[in-house]
Amino acid sequence: MQSTKVEKVIFIDRDGVINEDPIGDYVKRWQDFRFIPGVVEALQNLSRAGFQIVIISNQAGIGDGEYTEEALNEITSQMLSEFKKNGISIRGIYYCLHGKTANCECRKPKTGLFRQAACDIRFEASETYFIGDKLSDVQAGRNFGFRNLFVLTGHGSTDQMKLSKEDAPEKILPSLKEAVDYILESNDRE
Ligand SMILES: [Mg+2]
Ligand SMILES: [Zn+2]
Repeated sequence: MQSTKVEKVIFIDRDGVINEDPIGDYVKRWQDFRFIPGVVEALQNLSRAGFQIVIISNQAGIGDGEYTEEALNEITSQMLSEFKKNGISIRGIYYCLHGKTANCECRKPKTGLFRQAACDIRFEASETYFIGDKLSDVQAGRNFGFRNLFVLTGHGSTDQMKLSKEDAPEKILPSLKEAVDYILESNDRE
C-alpha cells in the first residue's frame, strides 16, 4: 500500500560531512574511512527526533577507475554496520558512480540522485534540509529546491570562499553536529 504521508527526511553528503575527505584523493577502502568527530551522536539525535537519514554522494573515483564498485560496497556495508551498532538506521544511500567528465544526470550539482530518492521516499523539498561541504552541494540542493546547510569540515573551509550570493546556504555551521542541532532547534520551533 502506497503511503501518502510526507516523511521527515534529512539529506546528507558523505565525504567531508560524515567522514573525513582525503582532499585531492578518494576514500578507496574501509581502512581509510574516518568518521568526523560528533557524527555518530548527531545522527543518533536525528534518528531519535524521527528523521529519516539519506546519504547522497558523488563517487567519481569509480567511473574514473580509481577504485572499484566492490570496494565502495565494502565501505558502505562497514559504515552501515557501525551506524547500526549505534542505533542509527539509514533510509537510503544514493551514489553517482560516473566519472567527472561523463556528463551524467546524477553527479552533483545536478539533481539526479535527489530525483532517484524522490521515487522511493515522499518528502517536501522546500521543507527538507541538505547538508554538504562543497559549492556543488549547495548548487545541487538549490537546483532541487532544498533548504541548504553548509558545513566547514571537508572542503567547506575552502569552498566557503566560492559561495556567491545566489548560492548562499541558509546557514554555515562548523560541522554536522552543529548542523543537526540547528535542524532540531528549528524543528522544535516550527
Ligand atoms: Mg563532500
Ligand atoms: Zn552520475
